[in-house]
Amino acid sequence: MLIKNSKKIVIKLGSSTVVDKNGKFKSDWVDSLIKDLKKYYKKLSIVIVSSGAIALGQSYLKIKQKKIKIDMSQAVAAVGQIHLAEKFQKIFRKNNFETAQILISLSDTEQRRRALNVRRTFENLFKMGVIPVVNENDTTATTEIKYGDNDRLAARVAQIIGADTLILFSDTDGLYDKSKKLISKIDNIDDKVLSLAGKKTNSYGSGGMITKIEAAKICMNAGCNMFIANGKKKNPIKSMINTGLYTRFNPKISTLDARKKWIVSSLSSSGKICIDTGAMVAISNGKSLLAAGVKKVEGTFSKGENVLVIDENNKELARGLSSFSSDEINKIKGKQSSDIEKILGYPSKSEIIHKDDMVDI
Ligand code: GLU
Repeated sequence: MLIKNSKKIVIKLGSSTVVDKNGKFKSDWVDSLIKDLKKYYKKLSIVIVSSGAIALGQSYLKIKQKKIKIDMSQAVAAVGQIHLAEKFQKIFRKNNFETAQILISLSDTEQRRRALNVRRTFENLFKMGVIPVVNENDTTATTEIKYGDNDRLAARVAQIIGADTLILFSDTDGLYDKSKKLISKIDNIDDKVLSLAGKKTNSYGSGGMITKIEAAKICMNAGCNMFIANGKKKNPIKSMINTGLYTRFNPKISTLDARKKWIVSSLSSSGKICIDTGAMVAISNGKSLLAAGVKKVEGTFSKGENVLVIDENNKELARGLSSFSSDEINKIKGKQSSDIEKILGYPSKSEIIHKDDMVDI
């Protein structure tokens, strides 16, 4: 697979992949990546997700310390992002490509209507032969409303645009097992895989193996192949193909439509709905979730938000878009659907989560 049979590919570049230890943008390395991609360009739509705004900003502002406070990093990212975009533009132009900058906030991907807008923008850029360079909109994002790492952002973009391949280039060849052997292929993310992830991040990036595995989960559910590979050597794609050094996460065979893939890969879930055994049986048979089966609500959310459905032991059963706010569900939980209008005092939907808005996990 890798790249030969791909139609849409997302390439994520970590901060230490594009910015060297002295704070310099690695133009030659990025140029070698673009040259690799150029070979396949005619049949391939390409998206680059690049970190490095904060790292470059620190370098231009001569800020030495490694981790800076969030309000400061917002300002630093504003300085760095403009340099980052300029560097990419220069290299793309040299290779006869036009590029575009897309800065994404968490709500752009987590609200369905905005996610569809994001998809349309990408599609129109592909039609015009433009290669978009994406980063998180760090300038306005605060901790609560932030991806924080570009691994999951890249995976969510891959899912939204229907990419078939995502490559995460960082400073490691991939995921290693306990005996330090590189794992070449992963079909399922179980506790064993999670235990290999560790907590380490590199000096610039905020990701690490954990966020890469979370990104893999999103890709696997979306039918997208994901690779973790080393971005240290030049011509990184050629090198992946020649050496076979990478970890590949194989996608699951999915029967979900695009909307359900988006629901199941949600990154922000604002609340949980705890249900009884009767409702568990109903939803596992593809039925909607009704108020009668709801035991309790956790968290605060509005109508239309993505929530987790859990059993009484906190086990996650499904994800879905709630037809009611958490306040409303507190009033109608355990009640018959026919009583909802009387209790709330206004007409509403009769299901807490409609079956079309819910996916088992
Ligand atoms: N968006 C951040 C930047 O460009 C980096 C996020 C990450 O480390 O993945 O500096």
